[in-house]
Amino acid sequence: MKDTFKHQGLRQQLVKTIKAKGIVDEKVLNAIGSIPRHLFMDSSFLDHAYQDKAFPIAADQTISQPYTVAYQTELLKVKTGDKILEIGTGSGYQCAVLCEVGAKVYSIERQQELFKKTSKFLPKLGYRPKKLIFGDGYKGLPDEAPFDGIIVTAGAPFVPKPLLSQLKIGGRLVIPVGDDVQVMNLFIRKGQKEFEQHELGEFRFVPLLEDKN
Ligand code: SAH
Repeated sequence: MKDTFKHQGLRQQLVKTIKAKGIVDEKVLNAIGSIPRHLFMDSSFLDHAYQDKAFPIAADQTISQPYTVAYQTELLKVKTGDKILEIGTGSGYQCAVLCEVGAKVYSIERQQELFKKTSKFLPKLGYRPKKLIFGDGYKGLPDEAPFDGIIVTAGAPFVPKPLLSQLKIGGRLVIPVGDDVQVMNLFIRKGQKEFEQHELGEFRFVPLLEDKN
């Protein structure tokens, strides 16, 4: 596992690319500029790690496109120490970005293989999320609620109620909603029962799967 000047140079190019696409949050740009994304991917994809593209990881899943990761993170408006729940740990890249911007991260993954691999991998790189959970993201994490922010990194066919109810007042839920194509939705909790909803751009994610057991 190593990071080189070549990788660092490519990362700075990537930062320029996502800046040109509209990302302005300096903390987010710094995170993308400092996290060695190539180490989150299978070695055969090393040369592609700093293109602004999604790529396959284990268990038929993908590491999200850097722009998408940056866009979702920016929408969360993370402040240092904020409690953030991520649904879909996957490679751990988004989780690392959240750690880097100062969040206390809780992240749920339903594929055991990915859960195990990423749980071992993140600490090796020095990223220490509060808790990684093997489980079903549709339920959220009631034991640790409420959260300042919740981010869903898979395409949800609908907005799971538990995720809305596990937000603090003022908390933000960032969730791509739709089947083949998803619309990024931002919910801001204004009161016990009041939510402000914003429908933003279109994206493509792997599906948020429902558990059958
Ligand atoms: N955030 C990840 C993106 C991974 S892709 C990264 O940065 O690499 C989406 C992930 O969501 C996959 O790993 C998939 O297994 C997981 N997933 C799908 N349905 C889920 C569910 N119901 N609960 C938790 N994780 C789920």
